[in-house]
Amino acid sequence: MGTIFISDLHLEAGRPEGIVRFETLIREQGLKAHAVYILGDLFEAWIGDDDTDPAMKPVIDAIAALARAKVPCRIMHGNHDFLLGRRFELATGATLLGDYEVVDVYGERVLLTHGDLLCTDDTRYQELRRMVRDPAWQRDFLAKPIAERKAIASRIRSASLADSAGKPEAIMDVNAAAVEETMRRFGVRRLLHGHTHRPAVHALSVDGEPAERIVLGAWHEHGYVLHWDESGYRVELI
Ligand code: MN
Repeated sequence: MGTIFISDLHLEAGRPEGIVRFETLIREQGLKAHAVYILGDLFEAWIGDDDTDPAMKPVIDAIAALARAKVPCRIMHGNHDFLLGRRFELATGATLLGDYEVVDVYGERVLLTHGDLLCTDDTRYQELRRMVRDPAWQRDFLAKPIAERKAIASRIRSASLADSAGKPEAIMDVNAAAVEETMRRFGVRRLLHGHTHRPAVHALSVDGEPAERIVLGAWHEHGYVLHWDESGYRVELI
């Protein structure tokens, strides 16, 4: 028993092993957990809840099994699946969270976020983020036919890949001042996020007090799972 935190699974039809790994985690551990948190980029791409890709059905079903077992599943938007919406919630029984969420984890206040908002040095990305998170842009995008949405999404993805390739590594990591300011604003000493694909536990200090930033790893050859219970947390690679 405990609570499971995962992030950046980037599930896609072309990599069925990731989907199987997720189903196995949910079946063998998720159904017995207190709760399952997915901190963004569950999917490699999501162009709207009405695009019913049969390859993603096992993922939807696995999450729905959590709801049936009365295990809360809470999901954040990532920069790849920020269009997860109400129909997805209804199909899965999961709850979508906001960009920042303070949760009580066995008596401790922990701030959860995907992580992209903390990468403030990457100004071009933040500009793109503001555009695609704008409700008017999203309404307009979701009104387009699925084929057109797919074409736009793939254009944005290749432009952003090309942009990332030319950027120094440090720019795509979190900004230390943004981390401190955010932890101060939410009054927490523990922050948990994904997005950067740089799993680590960073010790820092906020207003002279010791603090910790835990970064979840992405799912590549392995699944990266953080288990948290009354005695603390541990990482498991599956
Ligand atoms: Mn991300």
